[in-house]
Amino acid sequence: MDNSLKTMDKIVALCKGRGFIFAGSDIYGGLANTWDYGPLGARMKNNIKDTWRKRFIQERKNSYEMDADILMHPRVWEASGHVGSFSDPLLDCKECKMRFRADNLIDDFDPNAHADGMTKQEMFEYIKAHSIPCPHCGKHNFTEIREFNLMFKTFRGVTEDAKSVIYLRPENAQGEYVNYLNVQRTMRAKLPFSIGQIGKAFRNEITPGNFTFRTIEFEQMEFQTFCKEGTDAELYEYFKQFGKQYYEDLGLPAEHLRFHDHEKLAHYAKAACDIEFLFPFGWGEINGTHNRTNFDLARHQEYSGTKLEYLDPETNERYIPYIIESTYGLDRTFLALLCEAYDEEVIDAEKNDVRTVLHLNPVIAPYKAAVLPLSKKLSDEAMKVYDKLSKKFMVDFDENGSIGKRYRREDEIGTPYCITFDFDSLEDGCVTVRDRDTMEQVRLPIDQLESYIQDKIVF
Ligand SMILES: [Zn+2]
Repeated sequence: MDNSLKTMDKIVALCKGRGFIFAGSDIYGGLANTWDYGPLGARMKNNIKDTWRKRFIQERKNSYEMDADILMHPRVWEASGHVGSFSDPLLDCKECKMRFRADNLIDDFDPNAHADGMTKQEMFEYIKAHSIPCPHCGKHNFTEIREFNLMFKTFRGVTEDAKSVIYLRPENAQGEYVNYLNVQRTMRAKLPFSIGQIGKAFRNEITPGNFTFRTIEFEQMEFQTFCKEGTDAELYEYFKQFGKQYYEDLGLPAEHLRFHDHEKLAHYAKAACDIEFLFPFGWGEINGTHNRTNFDLARHQEYSGTKLEYLDPETNERYIPYIIESTYGLDRTFLALLCEAYDEEVIDAEKNDVRTVLHLNPVIAPYKAAVLPLSKKLSDEAMKVYDKLSKKFMVDFDENGSIGKRYRREDEIGTPYCITFDFDSLEDGCVTVRDRDTMEQVRLPIDQLESYIQDKIVF
């Protein structure tokens, strides 16, 4: 099924109906742009994290994971530049009072206008010159463009004074930066080395979001490589390609991925490139690789008064390392994998028989297998197979409905193998294993199931 034929409505419905993702605070009518991962979604998200840990931490030399607090000293965000310049250019429609991002208005009006290369003044003049209408009410009567800071601000303690202001982190990176010498010393690391982290970040975005694509709370898997100036350009290119390969290995085909180099760079970056995936709603960023130079560490040295130089043991030089950052949006990666995997297959055109199936890479599928007793009379014996396999994998057990219906339910949640326990199984100790994608069946001894499944889960 071509990605252009898939609709977000169908994917959202499947997510809600099968326990992947629910609307946040649903019983209260929801809270815009928040989503809760259900049992299958949480499982799949953890599986994606595991692949990232394996590829970025476990298999790489000089790579370390850490888990920093979300709350940091408020000076961190002054040093990082987020207090001063982490903002969106917003304007309001004076007629209907809706608020918009100026760059989005322009890009939606003309995708070739490249608003990301315009200044605030240029954007304002462009919107005026082209009489861009309000997407909500259709009139053209906007306020000036104002910069709105995207950080969530809260107050620590009992008083709401400026001294007790504290922010929810808008990116994980600063947790790695302020700890880079702690990691370097305790791990006796030499440049180049990397610190990775999986965690939540928060941005007060106004743009509604295409399901979980744009949310105010999101999870990042990010990887910071500390290196000597002069080696940064090569590492930057390396991590762009490394990220694309990671996505291809997870199951996103090369023709649905592309690089997008940034024209307008963030305040900290020397070069920036996204990996975009072709979603049903169009191309969207799922990874960003940035050459952040020594900006962050130099600023932290200045603002904290703590020396952050690295002493090169070979040359005895002291210098502040450069940083190459490669950040993976976990929720976006999840959504990309789900959209890519979604398929509707015509089994029998005459009978109008169509199956919905998620062709997920088995490594990220919520369940690796489902045990299905052919009759409820066989449930106790089949449960022994479940008990055995569940020590190794997440396994489902379903004894309700016809076997055909049960297959379809498992197809719809991407379970790669259905194991049917029938009356012969009592005699021969074998079960039938059905492959989700080919629907072919093989008969296997129960004691070979574990290695059979294990061999298919490769990453
Ligand atoms: Zn309006």
